[in-house]
Amino acid sequence: MNPTMSGLDDLYREVILDHYRNPCGGDSLENPTIEVEGHNPLCGDDLRMQIEIEDGRIKKLHIEPEGCSISVASASMLAKQIEGLTMEEALELKAAFQRVLKGGDWPEGIDFGDLEALEGVRQFPVRIKCALLAWMTLEQALAQYCPGAIGMVDEDRDIEIRAHKVQQKTEEPA
Ligand code: ZN
Repeated sequence: MNPTMSGLDDLYREVILDHYRNPCGGDSLENPTIEVEGHNPLCGDDLRMQIEIEDGRIKKLHIEPEGCSISVASASMLAKQIEGLTMEEALELKAAFQRVLKGGDWPEGIDFGDLEALEGVRQFPVRIKCALLAWMTLEQALAQYCPGAIGMVDEDRDIEIRAHKVQQKTEEPA
């Protein structure tokens, strides 16, 4: 048990460990719109993410996280939470979650699902990157897919993202 996990509330720790042991991540996609990898060198966390986008929505997502319990649990929670959301809704969720990890309150009107279990991570600033890796990777991936539609993307120089495949957004012929 590492110091971060033992500092978290028992109930939340169970939720995190459940996701860590059995991450949600679905099957790999045959024809992803976007395929990226994210890496958090501060902790050694890695993940591979495939996203299928249709009509501006995240239709399917596949995630393979490898790393500490917090990074894997957060990636699994992301996979559980964002399928079916529009790109804007997914980014709004990411921004709100990031604000909470930096000390903000949980805003009303957004369904965070199991992410609430990660609130305690904010007591451990060095682990916040672990909790945000999947979300940063998602944000960068969407920004590469659709540069015009995404407002401000929060670049984090500590987190490394490599895009392997990005099908540029194409407009339907009139
Ligand atoms: Zn980590």
